[in-house]
Amino acid sequence: MSLEKITKSYERIKNILPDDVQLVAVSKTHPADQILHVYNLRQRVFGENKVQELVEKYPLLPKDIQWHLIGHLQTNKVKYIAEFIDTVQSVDSEKLLEEINKQAGKHQRKIKVLLQVKIAEEETKFGLEIHEAKEIFQNYINGKFPNVEITGLMGMATFTDDQNQIVKEFTLLKQIFDKLSLLKKLDVLSMGMSDDFPVAIQCGANSVRIGSAIFGSRQYDL
Ligand SMILES: *Cc1c(COP(=O)(O)O)cnc(C)c1O
Repeated sequence: MSLEKITKSYERIKNILPDDVQLVAVSKTHPADQILHVYNLRQRVFGENKVQELVEKYPLLPKDIQWHLIGHLQTNKVKYIAEFIDTVQSVDSEKLLEEINKQAGKHQRKIKVLLQVKIAEEETKFGLEIHEAKEIFQNYINGKFPNVEITGLMGMATFTDDQNQIVKEFTLLKQIFDKLSLLKKLDVLSMGMSDDFPVAIQCGANSVRIGSAIFGSRQYDL
């Protein structure tokens, strides 16, 4: 997509989004010059879903970008991003959280994470079962992961046209969010992408991950 078109789509999205909803601009598959363009429109939070792609782009772009990893993260790759990643949104196992905690410690920093909870009916999506998310959060409260900060939850709805289904799934995640918040306050509820962010916000999302509605469609499907 041309830079002019990207400007227009970005401004359109910014105008729709309520002020208290964080925008994570999902830049996967799009080149550094397009990311820099959106950065120059004052966007600071960007999401990538692959470690290798992120590690290649990171040195090319301004250092005050807050990078979010939003795709499945293999434990053995945490070390490549631990020094600079702002938030890992896709924590889908306790083992992964242990490794993030360990690598954050090595760099004497805290890494923010979201627990990715499986709310979709589809079998393909990564994510924790609800009871697993609760157990991990309890262990966190008990001090098991001193170098991470669990700031919230992330979830993806089923890929479907059935609005009721999507509402049901997002509402479920909002309920889990409220329940866990009683144990220790959570700030971030990340749900909603280009096609379903308005309904996600209606269901209580305060962070959305938007790619194609800003940068255009991707050349290859990830
Ligand atoms: C690619 C991706 C997005 C953005 O998807 P769009 O439909 O392009 O907005 C959001 N979340 C995750 C986890 C993704 O992998």
